[in-house]
Amino acid sequence: MSPKFTIPMSSPDLTEAERQAVSAVLQTPYLSMGRELEAFEAAFCNFTGSRSAIGVNSGTAGLHLCVRAAGITEGDIVITTPFSFVSSTNVLLFERAVPIFVDVEATTGNINVGQVNQAVKDITSGGTAAENWLPSSVTFDKARLKAILVVDVFGQPSDMDPILEIAEEHNLKVIEDSCEALGAEYKGRKAGTLGDYGVFGFYPNKQITTGEGGVIVTSDDRAASIMLALRNQGRAPGDTWLEHSYLGYNYRLDEMSAALGRVQLTRLDEMLAKRSQVAAWYENRLFEIPEVETPQVEKSTSRMSWFVYVIRLTLAVDRDYVVSELEKRGIPARPYFAPIHLQRYMVEQFGYKEGDYPVTEDLGHRSLALPFSGVMKETQVDFVCSAIREIIHQAGM
Ligand SMILES: *Cc1c(COP(=O)(O)O)cnc(C)c1O
Repeated sequence: MSPKFTIPMSSPDLTEAERQAVSAVLQTPYLSMGRELEAFEAAFCNFTGSRSAIGVNSGTAGLHLCVRAAGITEGDIVITTPFSFVSSTNVLLFERAVPIFVDVEATTGNINVGQVNQAVKDITSGGTAAENWLPSSVTFDKARLKAILVVDVFGQPSDMDPILEIAEEHNLKVIEDSCEALGAEYKGRKAGTLGDYGVFGFYPNKQITTGEGGVIVTSDDRAASIMLALRNQGRAPGDTWLEHSYLGYNYRLDEMSAALGRVQLTRLDEMLAKRSQVAAWYENRLFEIPEVETPQVEKSTSRMSWFVYVIRLTLAVDRDYVVSELEKRGIPARPYFAPIHLQRYMVEQFGYKEGDYPVTEDLGHRSLALPFSGVMKETQVDFVCSAIREIIHQAGM
């Protein structure tokens, strides 16, 4: 934490049990590809009901393996969202696939299902309407629509039923980026298990952490065996240490990380309950400030897994001013997300411009992530909320 802040932006929730589990690994010679990874993966199969769980060394690595297992290659088209962390789009670009963005729902920031439907129709019908979905400078082969990559934004599942229906109708793979949504449920079903493959991320600000790490869950046995090989330098089952059936990666999750994650997963319910409590403290204090919109939970979300606490300021409020005033009081806050299509490398490659995805851009302009974690105290929430109220009122915004 930077010394200018008295409250951290986020914080892992660690106990003696985690420290002991990591320390126990260090009493053995097995620091990679051992029992802890197996146990961690088994716990994920148990938790999600998926047939396979594949531990990897980041959420991004997990998403990349989904793209490879789906057989997505150069020139293939994938429909996805520009309101996300960059990895969900980057993993497509790693394989020279073409992301086609559709805008998001204003309430949740999740992909807009009506627009997914329209995009699939326009692209598969073979007419010229398909061209509306990419800047005119980009040429693409409409016959190559392969997948939909959805993101469960801020811990809330996307509206998956209609997406699965469209995917089924057009034989598309569905990749679910649930890196922000471990433990969330959609109509009683677990986030991450709704599409063909789902990915969870365990960076220290996530609901559970392994330091760095991630897990893929899938019930597609063929995909799982490819992912296992690609994670381990392309070694297929039966390959020796220097035999590589595929072009693979080192995406392995080490034993210390797996041990940490295994204990964290046993504490998930407790940690999610604490996060919900912190979100409720925020809601109770912020809902009555007219310039502040608090996060909304959809009816289809039968369990919210609070990842971050992101408010939206009304347009009249100067967000940069609020951020700098909060900073003066020792409180960090940051815009979240910055639209992917407006990142420099995206503009250079695809020619996107302001105005292309108005809802994503509006959320990008007005959203503000406040300090949030399961170990945050009510007095700290009080301090943040009083500061926000005071700053907005003093500025007469
Ligand atoms: C955290 C996150 C990831 C994965 O991040 P890593 O740092 O690679 O573990 C992917 N997508 C989203 C939406 C995320 O929030």
